[in-house]
Amino acid sequence: MKYPPIQITFLGTGTSSGVPMIGCDCDVCISTNKKDKRLRSSIKIVSPEKIIVIDTTPDFRYQMLRSDTRRLDAIIFTHPHKDHIAGLDDIRAYNYLMDQPMELYVNALTEEALRREFYYAFAENKLPGVPEIKLFHIENQPFTVGDLIVQPIPVWHHKMPVLGFRFGDFTYITDANRLEEVSKDKVKGSKIMVINALRKEKHLSHFTLAEAIALVQELEIPEVYFTHISHQLGLHDQVEAELPKGMHLAYDGKELVVSG
Ligand SMILES: [Zn+2]
Ligand SMILES: [Zn+2]
Repeated sequence: MKYPPIQITFLGTGTSSGVPMIGCDCDVCISTNKKDKRLRSSIKIVSPEKIIVIDTTPDFRYQMLRSDTRRLDAIIFTHPHKDHIAGLDDIRAYNYLMDQPMELYVNALTEEALRREFYYAFAENKLPGVPEIKLFHIENQPFTVGDLIVQPIPVWHHKMPVLGFRFGDFTYITDANRLEEVSKDKVKGSKIMVINALRKEKHLSHFTLAEAIALVQELEIPEVYFTHISHQLGLHDQVEAELPKGMHLAYDGKELVVSG
């Protein structure tokens, strides 16, 4: 079966603190280059049938405004860290615009966090005006959202299991520092891949730039975009110029088209 063509927009490409970081005067944080301004990491995927977003960052509201997203059919979550769920409350705008609950695709770990941190949206007798949600439970098996078949890719974020996702020839992985062989096999054959690369120095739970480059070379991915970037990685244009062929730093607003 042919995969539908999809269009991807980077809504945010920054690590949990965003770039610039509050109170920082480093070269990256004071840069006037728009590509050095990074909201927290998220993407929008548009297919012929569906408009979906991966994760609701603390910047979710502004990301939806900035990308002029007037319709949103579903949200798929990678993991429950705050920089990936904090913006959930603002789905209320779509409840209102579309007059329906928002579909959320979550694994058990993320569901537990959402139930705790957005308890009021799960209450028995909800107050009017709280987020209306419809949960879909996912684990490691493929699932569908309209015309999109989504293959979860389990990855490790130090000791936390995180889900990456493959949509046909496109794979999105954020917040990883290790992939098991079985997950590498699920990524292989992707034509375009997004993978996190925090900075150049070693980190407990994120791939460094060198580690991310080594991974995508091992997997032989022809076109790669690095995301979840720290101010410590360096200026966008300088780092971009150092990258091997076929590899790029993602930046906010960047769009990709994956033909079906
Ligand atoms: Zn993160
Ligand atoms: Zn800085």
